[in-house]
Amino acid sequence: MVSTGRITESARTPLTPKVPDVPFDFAVQDHAALRAAGSAIADLFWPQRCAGCDLPGTLLCDECRRNLALIDPAHACPRCGAPDGDHGCAECGCSEFTFAAARCAGVFEWPLSRMVTLHKDAGELRLTPLLARLAADAAGDWCAWADCVVVLPASPGAFARRGFDHGALLAAEFAHIAGPPALDALRARPRRDQRHLSRQGRNENADASIIACPGAHVPERVFLIDDVMTTGATAEAATGALLRAGAHEVRVLAVARACGGRL
Ligand SMILES: [Zn+2]
Ligand SMILES: [Zn+2]
Repeated sequence: MVSTGRITESARTPLTPKVPDVPFDFAVQDHAALRAAGSAIADLFWPQRCAGCDLPGTLLCDECRRNLALIDPAHACPRCGAPDGDHGCAECGCSEFTFAAARCAGVFEWPLSRMVTLHKDAGELRLTPLLARLAADAAGDWCAWADCVVVLPASPGAFARRGFDHGALLAAEFAHIAGPPALDALRARPRRDQRHLSRQGRNENADASIIACPGAHVPERVFLIDDVMTTGATAEAATGALLRAGAHEVRVLAVARACGGRL
């Protein structure tokens, strides 16, 4: 349990520095209860449909679950988490990153890409537990290593546009499933949307776009969690901020790995 730093706050609150004085366990139970209540109401008015094929009655049908392009960590690039990159990676070119390693649950292609998009851009927050479970499965033995999990913060513009922070919800659910407590330690400065930028543009845009919360005390071993990893530029910026705030090692964990510029 982490007793210092900022424990994750509600993903629906504004991104302003805040130091809640509630213990972590309380925050997690509170989150779980709120999520369960929210899901029950959503099920009543908006019946579940498969995120992959729209089949009614489920958030992910068996057929779409079988079609998930999950990444085997034994054969993935240890630096960027891309599939089949253990002996030379076409995605990162075996680049050295500031973060120590990365794992990604699956390739960013249908149906996982649609799950992520519905969660992030359509507000289908009932997918949060499914995405968090995929991240926890990908993390595997790393879960016993980490002191905490920190989310890549949404930009102020993205938060205002969506009205919720999908990443914070993902981190809280991951903490609930996998164990390492969620720590609210980073803030994002305004920046352009990453999705239409080149690799160089992403690096420049991400540089200095993420800062540690003033006064944040970050423990030594940190998971940095995100829904999609593309070039790793944003994770690099966040890792720099975490290292300056006290972390000794940062490992990146993403639900999906966008390969070959697919995003
Ligand atoms: Zn389906
Ligand atoms: Zn790689």
